[in-house]
Amino acid sequence: MNILVINSGSSSIKYKLFSFPKESLVDKGEIEKIGEEKSKIKNHTQGIDEIINKILVKSKINSLKDITAVGHRVVHGGEKFKQPHLINKTVIKQIQKCSKLAPLHNPANLAGINYCLKSFPTNFQVAVFDTAFHQTVSEEGYIYPIPYKYYRKYKIRKYGFHGTSHQFIAQKAALTLKKPLTKLKLITAHLGNGCSMTAIDKGKSIATSMGFTPLEGLMMGTRCGDVDVAAIFNIMKKEKLAIDQMDKILNKKSGFLGVSGVSNDLRNVSKAAKDGNRRAKLAVDIFISRLKKYIGAYLFYLGGADAVCFTGGIGENNPDMVKSIKSQIKRIFSKTKVLIIPTDEELMIAKLTYKLFKKLRRGK
Ligand code: ADP
Repeated sequence: MNILVINSGSSSIKYKLFSFPKESLVDKGEIEKIGEEKSKIKNHTQGIDEIINKILVKSKINSLKDITAVGHRVVHGGEKFKQPHLINKTVIKQIQKCSKLAPLHNPANLAGINYCLKSFPTNFQVAVFDTAFHQTVSEEGYIYPIPYKYYRKYKIRKYGFHGTSHQFIAQKAALTLKKPLTKLKLITAHLGNGCSMTAIDKGKSIATSMGFTPLEGLMMGTRCGDVDVAAIFNIMKKEKLAIDQMDKILNKKSGFLGVSGVSNDLRNVSKAAKDGNRRAKLAVDIFISRLKKYIGAYLFYLGGADAVCFTGGIGENNPDMVKSIKSQIKRIFSKTKVLIIPTDEELMIAKLTYKLFKKLRRGK
């Protein structure tokens, strides 16, 4: 059966079409710059129409009826969604509710979902949430030590993101290590433009570095990661900054870009560092130092780990950095392996969609 995966973001829609149970990729593509002035694609509706045209022309699919299921990436599932869900009116309402927690992402995800429900003959369409994998983290791991009423009133807590990627990497690691996931302790580091680390015990997320939003945790391309909030108030007072301005600085102007002043892209920052740029070197050093801090903490949480797994643009393409961390891990934790595993979030979404399809079929 064919499963289409749609990742509908604010200004782009990525898609991959898979054939199951082989898990083979049939087609993939991306529509970019949606809604930008010079773009001919003005909105998500036109974006999905363009994808449908591409699929029908490029792949061997003759009719949309040949697509049995559609899997959709949804960024925020709040506390409601601990698993992938078959989409119906109630689920759509609940995803809308979660938009309060992810105002930039969930509405774009929903725009894709709503139009796909109209455009594809199949009503087997599944929402897969970035946050769901981390819903196994226990209360002491997700409640922030601030007045509890804010959790009660606004659901302010750690949620964690990149869940599908961490789950995918954990499953791949189990195959590589030739052990069942239920017997493994793993640390997974997804290092792309956004970076997050997760401690996984017996296949379940027990701690993760991103928080209420993706801003918490590791240093990233343009995000700061962990910072003393009081330092932020101090800057806001001194520079008379509004909340939105500071939000933009922390999300878009910090991390590699902010420290180095060179770029958000590690390739450019590393090159500048090699050419003697002191701040570029400092940015790389801070990044590595914080990676080590989280690896150390998670090794302790887990009571040792079978493997530390790296993925994402940085994790997959930076053998020198991974090698240096590997040699340090080896010195202290000789039994812990270090693995580089390419991630495929779309394949994970397709696998989860297929699993739900089989489960519901059996139930009928
Ligand atoms: P996204 O999170 O947007 O999917 P990616 O996973 O593609 O991003 O990761 C982007 C990061 O990966 C950038 O910092 C980039 O510098 C880094 N990266 C990609 N390829 C390489 C490479 N060959 N060498 C070093 N870093 C790389």
